[in-house]
Order: sequence, then structure tokens, then C-alpha cells
Amino acid sequence: MNHLSYTRGPQDQPLLAMTIGQAFDDTVARFAGREALVVRHQQLRYSWSELAEQVDSCARALLALGVQVGDRVGIWAPNCAEWCITQFASAKVGAILVTINPAYRTSELDYALQQSGCSWLVCADAFKTSDYHAMLVQLLPELAASQPGELLSARLPELRGLISLAQQAPAGFLCWHKLAGLAAGISPAQLVERQALMQFDEPINIQYTSGTTGSPKGATLSHYNILNNGYMVGASLGLTEHDRLVIPVPLYHCFGMVMGNLGCLTHGSTMIYPAPSFEAEATLLAVAKEKATALYGVPTMFIAELDHPGRAEFDLSSLRTGIMAGATCPIEVMKRVIDEMHMREVQIAYGMTETSPVSLQTAADDDLDVRVTSVGRTQPQLESKIVDADGRILPRGQTGELCTRGYSVMLGYWNNPQATAEAIDPGRWMHSGDLAVMDAQGYVRIVGRSKDMIIRGGENIYPREIEEFLFGHPAVADVQVIGIPDRKYGEEIAVWVKLHPGHACDADELRAYCKASIAHFKVPRYVKFVDEFPMTVTGKVQKFRMREVMLAELDTTAAQ
Ligand code: AMP
Repeated sequence: MNHLSYTRGPQDQPLLAMTIGQAFDDTVARFAGREALVVRHQQLRYSWSELAEQVDSCARALLALGVQVGDRVGIWAPNCAEWCITQFASAKVGAILVTINPAYRTSELDYALQQSGCSWLVCADAFKTSDYHAMLVQLLPELAASQPGELLSARLPELRGLISLAQQAPAGFLCWHKLAGLAAGISPAQLVERQALMQFDEPINIQYTSGTTGSPKGATLSHYNILNNGYMVGASLGLTEHDRLVIPVPLYHCFGMVMGNLGCLTHGSTMIYPAPSFEAEATLLAVAKEKATALYGVPTMFIAELDHPGRAEFDLSSLRTGIMAGATCPIEVMKRVIDEMHMREVQIAYGMTETSPVSLQTAADDDLDVRVTSVGRTQPQLESKIVDADGRILPRGQTGELCTRGYSVMLGYWNNPQATAEAIDPGRWMHSGDLAVMDAQGYVRIVGRSKDMIIRGGENIYPREIEEFLFGHPAVADVQVIGIPDRKYGEEIAVWVKLHPGHACDADELRAYCKASIAHFKVPRYVKFVDEFPMTVTGKVQKFRMREVMLAELDTTAAQ
């Protein structure tokens, strides 16, 4: 099959045939006294046995509240210890954890709770500009007059109650600190009995995908899906009980809860949360103070850490490895992470929520060149292929849609068989919508989202290529390229540029830099300098928003 863009990952590493609860209990038994979780902004530290006490108490409280196997329990909070405790506790009782983006506002929350049919929601009180309590009180007028667990909401009939992480909450909420009292009414044996009921193929997690078009879809993942993905990702990094991983990425997304939390759980490593949401300084501080060996992040996080004015004051020499993922990983940034942050074994991972998430990953012993220019090769126990518009496998070297098959492919979109059938074909291949190319050795390069490809005057242009080129300019800190409609060429190239602090550069200089080295049709027509890109919390640049802004600006200019 060597000539075709199809590969199968190594088969020698067996998959874990167990539930998340069983994996948790195993790790606690093996590494009881070792550090499991450090939450720096809450000044909390738990060993695996201390974490187990918290998790089991929360799980017994959920049993006391009447949570059944398969019930949906939502969580809407920034990163904190209770998030991790709820993740493992809900898995132990067999509740499907619905992870809700902490940036969601009322209408998005309403949609997620409604669509998944949550019976309980664990929530923070407020964070940054989001007042979670106030939004819930507004959404649920019946709340104030109801007893916890007896909510009868006209809008959300399946919702029975809300658990607030705050010390004090408005009427109708149950406070987190009261869970220990509820747990006392359920014996440890009852929890063991519940755990014994579960099967590892059962759903345990619903994650709403960013959804650039239409309503968000709830990717439904089993214990087997996400436990094994965390395990394989951690194995690729060579994680052991001696590793300490800093997790600045959001827990509501699979980067945090699967690659982070489950990656650590399956290898006995320590999970370290530096802050409730990403902060470059808190992340650098966590690495230095905790002597972390590994660090995760999306490319923009690493850029912010590299450009932090006080970076030299933080001792990052304990770092060995980590993962950059979630969006295109610029070559220059990868090189700087290796050289300047001591992450000599850093790896790139590629994946999507629907595949638990990781499908491809570079390896520590890959040549530097492929480690910074590709997303690596197919992960163990998985298959990858690249297909044309008719679904036929392309020869190596040709660009097409990347597809994944194997243990990691989600069970489906929650209550949405039509969307599931559109994403997963009858052969059980998950179609990514990403354009990619596979080389002779099986290394894959991502060239963009199929809908982001620019067609200018009949030339196909991959934004990634121009972005990588512009990263070579000394003043450029970050760059994003988009296509915008154009009467003459069909589409024209627009670029948004973020400069390094203290550097100057103008549009003509950038264009001249391009003209000297790349084909004329790839030279950006429009150049805009910005301080920020419109981003999702998971580090994805919202190119559709950039397009809207550019079009509005061009319209205004034309009208003048
Ligand atoms: P999500 O489901 O939110 O994790 O988003 C998945 C999408 O993120 C993929 O379909 C890709 O478009 C993008 N993505 C993830 N990892 C990478 C990577 N290493 N390089 C390029 N794009 C990536």
C-alpha cells in the first residue's frame, strides 16, 4: 500500500480495556503517595490518595443526588481542582460529562443543556466578564423557589439542579461544599457496586465542537475512546510517574481533559494547572516553580510565552517535552520552543474532538526537520488516509481530505444521526475537513481547512504556505492569511500581522519581502496590523470573523 496515502499506526501497544473509573483506581493503588494534582491559583496540592478521597466523595454525592448511569452532568467552569474531581467522579458513577465552554453565554449554554438533556450542572460563580450565577438565574426563573434537585424548569425540563463551586450561591443552588455531607449517606460499597455496572464502550463525555457553521454538535465519546487516547498521547511523550505536566489549555476541551488529565492519569504523572484560563506569566511561573518536565499549549500560547518580556527570569530548564497542537504549528515557533524553552523532545499532535482527539503525532526521535514541519505519523492502533472529493485514496504527495479510523472515532454526535452520517462514512472513517498531504515515509503535513483554501485567478493557494513564509520576517510575531472575495480574481489574499514588541514594519515592506521570494499571485493584496486575532478559547483563529471584519472595512473604504 506504500504508494497510496494510507498508513496504519504500530499495533504492538495494547489498548486499555477498562473504564475511566477502573484506570483511576489502578493509578491510585500504584502511586498513592505521589503528587497527582497541583492547582496553583487555588494553592491546592493532592497526592493520588488525597485526590481519590475527593473524587470518591463527589461520586457518592452524585449517587445521593440520584444520578443514574447515562445521565448527563454538565460542567461550566474555568480550570480548577473541582473540574478535575468532577471529571473522575462523574466517570465513576457512569454519568456522561457534558463539558461546556466557559466562554459560552446564556443562549449557547441553553442550547448545550437542552440538546444534551443535562440533569445536573456544576458551575463556577463568575469569571472575567461572565457572571454564571446571574446567567443561570435569568435562564431559570423557577430556580429561586425550588429545592436543589427538585427544579422544574419550563425551558429545561430535564434539568434537576445546579451545583455551584462558590462558597455562597443564590437560592436554589446547591453549594459544592455541601456534597461531602450528602456523600456520608452513601457507603463506599455502593460506589463499588455502581462502578461494576459499567462497560468501557459506554458514552462518558459529550463535547460541543466549535462549529464554524450551524449549531454546535455534541461529539459523544466513550471511556474506551478517551482513556486510550490519553494513554497513547502520554506514551508517545514517554510520560511516567516522574513527569510533571503543566496544563494551561482549557479543561472543557479534549486538549485539557484527555491529553492533559487522562494522559497523566494513565501514566501516573502530575497534573499542574497554572491559572483558571491561559496566562503566559502564570504558565512560565508554574513551569519554573514546579520544576515541570512537560508543557502543553496551542501555538498562540507558546508565542505569548516566548514573547513574554520577563521570560529570561523564569528557569525553564526542567522542561523536557510537551505538545503543541490545536492549530497550525509554525516552524519558527517550534524551533524557538526547542531552543529557548528547553523542550528538546516537544511533539506536534494533530486531531479533532471527534477522534478523542489525537490521530497523528511526531515522535521524540523523529528528525528535527519532520518534527517541526509535519504533524507526524499515524498514532498506534489507528489508520489514516487522504482522499479526493470522491473519497478515493490519493497517491502519496497529493493533497486531499484527511480521514481517521480506529478506536478513537467518536460514537457519534449526540442525538444527531444525520450529522453523524455526514461525518463518519459507512467504513467508520471520520472525515476531518482538513487538507493534508502524506509523504513516502508516512509523515503528514496539514495544509489547511478545505474551506480556507484560497482560489485566486484559478491558482490554488494554501494560507499555511504564505503564513510560514511571513514567519521568517524578523518583525513578525504571528500571522494569519485569508481569502476574500474579489471581482477580478475571484479571491484576493489578505493578511493580518502581529508584530514582535518593539518592532516596526509597514505593508509595503511586507509586500516587498514577499515579492522577492514568492510567486506574485501569493503576495498579499491587503495587509492589516493587529494586536490580537479573533480566537476561540481553544486557540483557533476564527478566520470567518477576520473575513467579516476585512469585508466591512473594505466596504467602508470603497464608500468614501
Ligand atoms: P477541535 O475539534 O476543536 O480540536 O478542532 C480540530 C481541528 O483543529 C482540526 O480539524 C484541525 O483543523 C485543527 N488542528 C488540530 N491540530 C492541528 C495541528 N497540529 N495542525 C493544524 N491544524 C490542527
